Amino acid sequence: MSTQFAKSGWAVSGQLVSAWGKTYRNVVAIKKPGWSPQGEELPPLLIGAHYDTVSESPGADDNASGLVVLLEVALRLSSQPLSRPVWLVAFCLEEQDRLGSQAFVSRLKAERHELAGAIILECVGFARSEACTQQAPPALPIAVPTQGDFLAIVGNEASRSLVLQFEQNARRQAGQLKTLSLVVPGRGEAMPDTRRSDHASFWDAGYPAVVLTDTANFRNPHYHRETDTVDTLNLEFLSKVTATVTETAMHIAGV
Ligand SMILES: [Zn+2]
Repeated sequence: MSTQFAKSGWAVSGQLVSAWGKTYRNVVAIKKPGWSPQGEELPPLLIGAHYDTVSESPGADDNASGLVVLLEVALRLSSQPLSRPVWLVAFCLEEQDRLGSQAFVSRLKAERHELAGAIILECVGFARSEACTQQAPPALPIAVPTQGDFLAIVGNEASRSLVLQFEQNARRQAGQLKTLSLVVPGRGEAMPDTRRSDHASFWDAGYPAVVLTDTANFRNPHYHRETDTVDTLNLEFLSKVTATVTETAMHIAGV
């Protein structure tokens, strides 16, 4: 992963995270703008995905799909001039109470660092066009299609504009990426299912963050099983997600 980021010309560093007497690491790839408009650097845009999986599961959807988007975005942004820094972060320990992103965010907060926003990729490769392939978590305030072929965008009040921006870019894609957006109040406390990835660490610290997801176990029968393999993924869907994430990043951080 570090090698791939470096090959695309990004400055890569590891942020160590201690847990249970062991050391884990978040991998951070940074690309800075070639110039700063007022001599002062604007807050960075962060795009992140966790790289751990649960034991016994190969984790193709959860979360190699998110990582592959991250690596592809690294490649596509490598030749683009930027107006603000972009940070691509591969988080460790998401499956362990988000310890990796929690450590990352608490350091960010301690350094009083600002963020333009965080876009978290969590299971983004599973999609089906048949009816009855989608379920919904309980108590959701919006109607959910029964066809599991959309990307869910979940944000909160602080990240509403990020949700809208992503939606617009998805609509502009050739072949369109179908999306379903949900903006939750506060930190999503009332709907715990909306907090199930690294974006919740950012919400908890007051940073604007959204999660992009195929909704994991509400669609994917292989979720956290040994059958979560690459042959079950929808690569066309994955490539539309990649194009939309790249486009959104360019809108926020491009020149
Ligand atoms: Zn995951």
